[in-house]
Amino acid sequence: MQKAIVRDTFFLAQKSQETSREDLQDVRDLVDTFKANRDQCVGMAANMIGVKKRFIVIDFMNLPFVMINPKVISKSGRYETEEGCLSLSGRRKAVRYQNITVSYQDMQFQKHTQEFTGYTAQIIQHEIDHCDGIVI
Ligand SMILES: [Zn+2]
Repeated sequence: MQKAIVRDTFFLAQKSQETSREDLQDVRDLVDTFKANRDQCVGMAANMIGVKKRFIVIDFMNLPFVMINPKVISKSGRYETEEGCLSLSGRRKAVRYQNITVSYQDMQFQKHTQEFTGYTAQIIQHEIDHCDGIVI
C-alpha cells in the first residue's frame, strides 16, 4: 500500500532499528510507495514512510531492489557531489564513495555481500544514511 512521504526532519534524524520478518508488510509498502514516486526518486528508506527500521529500496536496472539491514562494509574513491531527496526541497552537498561493498538481506532474509559502483553506489549510500538518521 502506498504511504505518505515523511518530511518531518526531527523524525528523519532518528536512527532506525534492525528489520525482522515481522516488518515485511512495511517493506512491501515501501516498494509500493517507491513505485508510485518513481518519476521523482531513485531510492527510498523506510523512515521516509514513517517506519524506523533498516530497509531501503533503490532503482537497480529499472527495477525496485530491496535491501534489508544494509551495511557498507568497505568503500573507496571519495568524491563530493550534490543530491536531492524526496523528503527535502532543494539540493545539498554530500560526500560519497565511487565503490562500495554492502552486506544486506533480501526479502527471504538470505544474506548477501555485493559490490556496487557509480550512481547505484551513490543511491545506496544516500538511503543507508537515512537508516542512520542522516538526511544528506
Ligand atoms: Zn533521501
